[in-house]
Amino acid sequence: MPKLTKEQLEQIQEYIQSLPEEEREPKLKEIMSQFEQETPQCPFCLMSEGKIPTTKVYEDGEFLAVLEINPVNKGHTLLFTKRHIRLFAELNEQESENIGKIIKKLAFALGTISEGINILDSEGKTAGQKFDHFVINLIPRTKDDSMKISWQGKPSNESELAKMKEIIFEVMPKDKPKSIPINEDILKKEFYKLKNKRKP
Ligand SMILES: [Zn+2]
Repeated sequence: MPKLTKEQLEQIQEYIQSLPEEEREPKLKEIMSQFEQETPQCPFCLMSEGKIPTTKVYEDGEFLAVLEINPVNKGHTLLFTKRHIRLFAELNEQESENIGKIIKKLAFALGTISEGINILDSEGKTAGQKFDHFVINLIPRTKDDSMKISWQGKPSNESELAKMKEIIFEVMPKDKPKSIPINEDILKKEFYKLKNKRKP
């Protein structure tokens, strides 16, 4: 919901107070629903809440996989978290353990009905993320379909690769003993801190 200014809130309050008592509640609901409609809602959250009809191919307490309604090819599947998170790195320990198993099942199924599959996770606008909700596209491929993935690699060298390895080792979260629960909030804060530090 967009944030109302203090003045707007006061105006609404004043107006509601001026109405006969029995009209206050329905009028307030009507006004608030207008503000709610102005907010663009996350389609993945709406699908998780069952507010957008979907064709589910997998569901558990944490994840939902549905068929894309505008598929590249038949079987194009969207796998996403039910909770609103933006990135793979925001998955909690349990979710990150489970997601591999779910992808394996889906990849097995889709692999049997296609010539190949792309498993695609786009994170950040630059990478083509359209909504701020973590989603993995599993795309069955056929020869000469409409999907194009290509890039031009630039040659690197040993010292560049060694330096990059050092950076990755430095920022990569270290595995902790199982008995110590990982504080997800701290991990998330740390991720964004490092991400900002490494911004080009
Ligand atoms: Zn969402």
